[in-house]
Amino acid sequence: VRFERIHGHDRLRAVLGAALDRGRVPQSLLFSGPAGVGKHTVAVEVARALVCPAGGCDRCAVCDRVRRGIHPDVVEVAGTTKTGQISVDQLRDLIPEIGSRPFEAQRRVFVFDADALNDQSSNAMLKILEEPPPTSHLVLISAAPHALLTTIRSRCQQFRFGALPVAVVEQALVERGVEAGEARVRAALSGGSLGHALALESDAWQAARVKLLDTFEALPTADALARAGLADRLVEGVELAVALTLGRSLLRDVAALAAGVGEAAVVNADVLDRLQGLADGPVGAAARAMADVFGRSRDLLEGIVDGELRQGGSKKEIIADLVLDEAAAALGA
Ligand SMILES: [Zn+2]
Repeated sequence: VRFERIHGHDRLRAVLGAALDRGRVPQSLLFSGPAGVGKHTVAVEVARALVCPAGGCDRCAVCDRVRRGIHPDVVEVAGTTKTGQISVDQLRDLIPEIGSRPFEAQRRVFVFDADALNDQSSNAMLKILEEPPPTSHLVLISAAPHALLTTIRSRCQQFRFGALPVAVVEQALVERGVEAGEARVRAALSGGSLGHALALESDAWQAARVKLLDTFEALPTADALARAGLADRLVEGVELAVALTLGRSLLRDVAALAAGVGEAAVVNADVLDRLQGLADGPVGAAARAMADVFGRSRDLLEGIVDGELRQGGSKKEIIADLVLDEAAAALGA
């Protein structure tokens, strides 16, 4: 079975698997899609299938060395630690290597972090793509393909990786030893990125969730000043985007309970008692509208891109304050 260690992406796996079976893997590939969904993992698996004499048996020494990143015919090209970018000199040094015969295998595979290309190295990359060497495959990986030169994109066969289904992320977390209840919540928060789900520190989000529950319980009787205090506390030690996602997830659970949908639909099942308490109170009837406020704000935030918000404290507190004001308005408080 090909790509058995890969989660999701069934169609893409089938297409790549068929290309490998027929010996028709394109010379230049572009794997695009959000961070943390498996682009790099698939690239390594494709490389393994191309250099293993048995087509990626997963049992031989070649497969083992590719996985460990020490096979001479599989080369990963990333930005330098100093600048984070792939320099033009780095690529120029690689050109003879890309054109040379493989050391051991029938082919060589070069995997590039295309998002690390700068203006100059993009042009060098384009030159490499314009004259693809017969025995080398090039795999470019990008989370922002529209930032690449269109001429680079057009010279590669593009494979678009979508977000992973929540159930797939959940399963992958469980396989990594994450407890079932926690896996469910982290998967729901991940936006379909296993990388994000793994990066979520469980202590940090659990603390954030407790603060959100405190906030929702206090909100019906809080005036504007009290809300500002709640907002400040809410975003302490957690990214605003995470707080908003968690808030929406909790409020959706409250809305489900208030609507009598039943506990099976609840994501945050481990705090069911507190959610039920909220559902039975004034928040219950307004939870759906409040969840929409949190969801909308999160979408807006993703448009802003969180770089500046991550650093500056004040801005995220202001936004949190606005969100709570709007949520309180939905509540009629
Ligand atoms: Zn093998």
